[in-house]
Amino acid sequence: MTIDKKVLAYIVVGMLTAILSCSKSPCEGGKDNLIVETVLTADEQSRLTPAQVIQSLREGNVRFCANDLTARDHSKQIREAARSQFPKAVIVSCLDSRIPVEDIFDKGIGDIFVARVAGNVINEDILGSLEYGCAVAGAKVVVVLGHENCGAIKAGIDNVRTGNITSLVVKIRRAVDQAAAAEINPAPKSKDFIHAVCLANVQISLTDIHDNSPILKTLEEQGKISIVGALYDINTGQVKFLDRDQ
Ligand SMILES: [Zn+2]
Repeated sequence: MTIDKKVLAYIVVGMLTAILSCSKSPCEGGKDNLIVETVLTADEQSRLTPAQVIQSLREGNVRFCANDLTARDHSKQIREAARSQFPKAVIVSCLDSRIPVEDIFDKGIGDIFVARVAGNVINEDILGSLEYGCAVAGAKVVVVLGHENCGAIKAGIDNVRTGNITSLVVKIRRAVDQAAAAEINPAPKSKDFIHAVCLANVQISLTDIHDNSPILKTLEEQGKISIVGALYDINTGQVKFLDRDQ
């Protein structure tokens, strides 16, 4: 009888140990005991406001900076998203390899459209993509995302002329001229000047969207979408929304 009690005690201790160790390991399903398996639905997208989407992007960036990204079951999400998509935002980002756009907002499959072009400039094809994202697919926010220490911006400052880079640089030169006119430490290689050109370049892209897309402009005036600018800091991972965080 005494032996049986000891055996029973070992079994109980063993079970408790297993339960406790499982609660701290991936067998429970990662952080917060949650792995996202679903994707945005049409109903969920339709209920979102532009302000809620911006807040979602902000909160995702906070998690990214804290190295606390959401765990996702990509296999299940791929199957969920195969038939349709209802993303909440469209991001226009630079080509830069240091900016994994979905990651920096802690978003995954089906969450956001991403249009990438060096220098996050606006052209007809990007405008068509933005109009598709918002007017056809229902996204609620357009973000023009510039970034510090941008190679395309530096090429613009250096007025690089070669191949098809030339037409890109011509677009960016408008921001160079604008920053120089504002006399923000116009020494071409200064950190302040590069920052000023990055900022001006995002503002010019926002103006280009408003000036050349009556569809997006009207959606914004109706309160159905927001069109905002943001800057990504490649030193910290932080995204600052212009006119909101500065
Ligand atoms: Zn760049």
